[in-house]
Amino acid sequence: MALAYDDTNIFARILRGEIPCDKVAENDHALAFRDIRPQAPVHVLVIPKGAYVSFDDFAANASNAEILGFTRLCAQVCMSEGVDLAGGNQGFRAVANTGHHGVQEVPHYHLHIMGGRVMGPMLS
Ligand code: IMP
Repeated sequence: MALAYDDTNIFARILRGEIPCDKVAENDHALAFRDIRPQAPVHVLVIPKGAYVSFDDFAANASNAEILGFTRLCAQVCMSEGVDLAGGNQGFRAVANTGHHGVQEVPHYHLHIMGGRVMGPMLS
């Protein structure tokens, strides 16, 4: 069973236009914006517009159209930010921190897309 969604979280507020974001791209189902505390030269968060708490909630409960829209926006971000391998670039890291063990801070599903430098090993 999915966790209850708390619509006071900061990404829900960004989606409602209550607080600003540094928007990178948008489509019917997803929004991409720059992380406020970037960990790499490219650090973009992609979020679904629907109310999903986490990666597993989204993967299990989103519609095919939502999943396709979200995934295509991720591809668009990778191309526009110059990190997509298909475009001959150097690659990137995509991370979905999930729940307590994943140290997820914001309870609205988001994918971190980070690039522009070689990432360190994921040890912690
Ligand atoms: P996580 O939930 O631990 O995966 O990370 C949440 C991310 O959201 C962090 O990297 C924060 O820097 C980022 N963040 C928090 N508030 C904002 C905001 O208002 N705009 C953009 N990024 C934010």
